Amino acid sequence: MSMIYRVNMSDLSVKSEAPSGGLLEAGGRELTSTMVASEVPPTCHPLSAENKLVIAPGLLTGTGAPCSGRLSVGAKSPLTGTIKESNSGGMGAIALATVGVKCIVLEGKPEKGKLYRLVVNTEGITIEAANDLAGLGNYDTVAKQFERFGDKVSCLSIGQAGEMQAAAASIAVTDVEGRPTRHCGRGGLGAVMGSKGVKVIVVDPAGGQRPKPLDAEAFKAGAKKFKECLDKHPLTGEGLAKFGTNALANVINAAGAYPTRNFSEGQFEGTEAISGERQHDVIVERGGKIAHACHRGCTIKCSRIYVDEQGKYITKGPEYETIWAHGANCGIDDLDAIAHMDRMDDDLGLDTIEMGATIGVAMEAGIIPFGDVKGALGLLQEVAKCSPMGHLLASGADVLGKAYGVSRVPTVKGQAMPAYDPRAVKGVGVTYATSTMGADHTAGYAVATNLLGLGGTVDPLKPEGQVELSRNLQIATGSIDSVGLCVFIAFAALDDAEAGEAVCQMLSGLLGRPVSGDDYMAIGRRVLTQERKFNKAAGFTEADDRLPDFFKTEQLAPHNATFDVSDKELDEVFNFID
Ligand code: SF4
Repeated sequence: MSMIYRVNMSDLSVKSEAPSGGLLEAGGRELTSTMVASEVPPTCHPLSAENKLVIAPGLLTGTGAPCSGRLSVGAKSPLTGTIKESNSGGMGAIALATVGVKCIVLEGKPEKGKLYRLVVNTEGITIEAANDLAGLGNYDTVAKQFERFGDKVSCLSIGQAGEMQAAAASIAVTDVEGRPTRHCGRGGLGAVMGSKGVKVIVVDPAGGQRPKPLDAEAFKAGAKKFKECLDKHPLTGEGLAKFGTNALANVINAAGAYPTRNFSEGQFEGTEAISGERQHDVIVERGGKIAHACHRGCTIKCSRIYVDEQGKYITKGPEYETIWAHGANCGIDDLDAIAHMDRMDDDLGLDTIEMGATIGVAMEAGIIPFGDVKGALGLLQEVAKCSPMGHLLASGADVLGKAYGVSRVPTVKGQAMPAYDPRAVKGVGVTYATSTMGADHTAGYAVATNLLGLGGTVDPLKPEGQVELSRNLQIATGSIDSVGLCVFIAFAALDDAEAGEAVCQMLSGLLGRPVSGDDYMAIGRRVLTQERKFNKAAGFTEADDRLPDFFKTEQLAPHNATFDVSDKELDEVFNFID
């Protein structure tokens, strides 16, 4: 049986316990949100000893189910003050599942200025002093672990931003090549890890065993069917591998929903230069890699390896959101410069969406002009230097906007919006407004139906139907995040009922009992119910489920649209919760 490990950073002790009750069959987001909701005082300071960082592989992770290597990390967020679950690809979750870790709970707080490494293997968890890693970026931090522990381990680490306990700090997870390129980016969970004094968690899967389904035949049949569904869908079978997530750039720009220069326009004149098609050509010409999997067992392979003109590695991807955040949102159309910013974010341990949005607000504030590549790289250098300006920037868009008196700040509950303007994709606007996580596209990706025609059609420019769309997607995402599947499987699942059936079949095989579609969706409802309850107890009300005023008053070209889903309708999103 996989175990819950409690690592107390106040007295440097480790205890293990067997999961019981509802935790037995919980994984990923259900596990992190259940534990945070039941064990963390909702009104505590997110960087205090009372907060807990819960790290959990998904329920299917490690079983060999296609695209099931997600790692969920949960805590009370320093960025939003809400409950938070942020998940990532990479090899960390599979390694943890292999050594029998149900979840790791980091509790308490060590003496100020002390840093530690956790070593996780089949024997359990040990805590080692690691002050020699102080001030290192993620790339150097993981290189030192590979030197000492060999190249089969996986690492979860924080960069300088996490050590600064900055609200935009991420937790890096190493990928198939051992690079710290996959991130639990959103919500500042790297700051919580920093507050616990944990610089890196090294997971050595040697001698471990993958979780074994109780009904191996049923599981195998479900996994086979699921792979076939993913393979035959045009996006999960081919499109994402060829053009990556950044295939969206031209599509979203054509729809007038590509936020440009800090959400002041809906189309960017430089889109072609930073599009997925252009990125594909650059990568192929230079000898980089397309169709790259961030973890073993991913069949979609949306990732890529981006190299410079000499063929030297710069970074992974970058992904659509990152290219938009540092590109169109900042008026920048230079793919190489964006790749360098992505590399800096990954190394410093920063959420790329939050940092792109923050630089956009800095440009709005006049700190540097829109389109200033050197200036944008310089701002990231301020974070690297841990200067006062660096601290301000790494606190996120909301804090910088307040410090500089900027009124156009695209955040909800303190978290920056991703790459879709909610005036032109109203379904995702409903998700931004109401998600338990603050503005988050992955929490209920209504773009799929609003703009990509997946799972039906709902006019992106009209308020009708958006609440129901967002509600259903938020529930489905709660389930996907809990079983540990990559959210991109939803592209196939929205179009093909067989894909959903295959997921239930895999779960039935794993648990050795029938799991219906209703059982599966019930996971998402349970997750959202607990998260809403936590947020309410932390002081959040329906008044927090709103977009910033400028989305309701400033028209967005070319559709001259405003966000007009009424407050009353927004309050209906969670009508299934008592
Ligand atoms: S589809 Fe992309 S993000 Fe998802 S698991 Fe595969 S490579 Fe990682």
